[in-house]
Amino acid sequence: MHPHENDLNDVGQSDSLPAVEPFYQTLKKQGLILTKSRPTILQVNTGFLCNQVCRHCHLDAGPHRKELMGRETMEQVFAIAAHPQFDTIDVTGGAPELHPDLLWFLAQLRPLAPKVILRSNLTVLAEKGTPMMTQLKELGITIVASMPSLNEAQADTLRGQGVFSNSIETLRQLNRMGYGQAESDLELDLVANPAGAFLPPSQCELEQRFKKRLQQKWRIKFNNLYSFANVPLGRFQVWLRRSGNYTDYMQKLANAFNPASVEGLMCRTILSVAWDGFLYDCDFNQAAGIHMGKRKTHITELELPLKPEHKIATGDHCYTCTAGAGFT
Ligand code: SF4
Repeated sequence: MHPHENDLNDVGQSDSLPAVEPFYQTLKKQGLILTKSRPTILQVNTGFLCNQVCRHCHLDAGPHRKELMGRETMEQVFAIAAHPQFDTIDVTGGAPELHPDLLWFLAQLRPLAPKVILRSNLTVLAEKGTPMMTQLKELGITIVASMPSLNEAQADTLRGQGVFSNSIETLRQLNRMGYGQAESDLELDLVANPAGAFLPPSQCELEQRFKKRLQQKWRIKFNNLYSFANVPLGRFQVWLRRSGNYTDYMQKLANAFNPASVEGLMCRTILSVAWDGFLYDCDFNQAAGIHMGKRKTHITELELPLKPEHKIATGDHCYTCTAGAGFT
């Protein structure tokens, strides 16, 4: 991110009602231009198929979605993942566990980067059971799991009946296998997001609260907790509009714009690959349909390293990442 005179903000696009100033104009007023740093994380979305229909999902993932990454695209991903600039491969969805080739995919990726992450909603991991968990452990895959709330009723309202107790049991099983334990290399991280149209408390404070409660009540341990505000896209945007919260929520995010957060935004260090092999600056832009740098580029056309002045395409959903301490 370079503050300078040149106006590169035209990569921006406005995806909200005129309730807030377009994000790119806010950047421009601050003299900021959002450009890629050297991406070190390759994020791969294996498809939108999911076993849950969470209210806050920015991708509108669910059992009704049929998009899944094909083997040919997965093989094209290997060629890019092997580039030495990537130290982390982050596999996400939907629920990647539902992809029939997931374990093969992870096994091929594992030697290519020091860290390979699997995003999980926990209930699908419970469905796949011990055989899948054992293979993840043997491959040394880091698990980043959604755990939206410590309140059972709230979690079940957001994610579906029985999700909370199922998630607790899965975390306990992962702990028994060595995940999240201080003496183990098997990393288990949690992701929490607010139950509605408001900003989360500080990540540090929330991590302490989750650690204390999960340990005291269920003897569950984990490594790190990440929290972020819900992104006003996909199913969450539909809910915001239907409930009459959209304008207020956008204003809340825009009012909390923190210019200091821009330097560390995750889109600066991530390349996001969609299930069909097309590239995005981040997973949220994928949900918004805004291609990387606003150019439709397939992974087979990607040339690394990117030019240092590579511009990041933005939309008004970007206010989610720059609110308060920011989402990095
Ligand atoms: S949504 Fe966030 S991560 Fe994505 S381009 Fe906007 S600011 Fe960057």
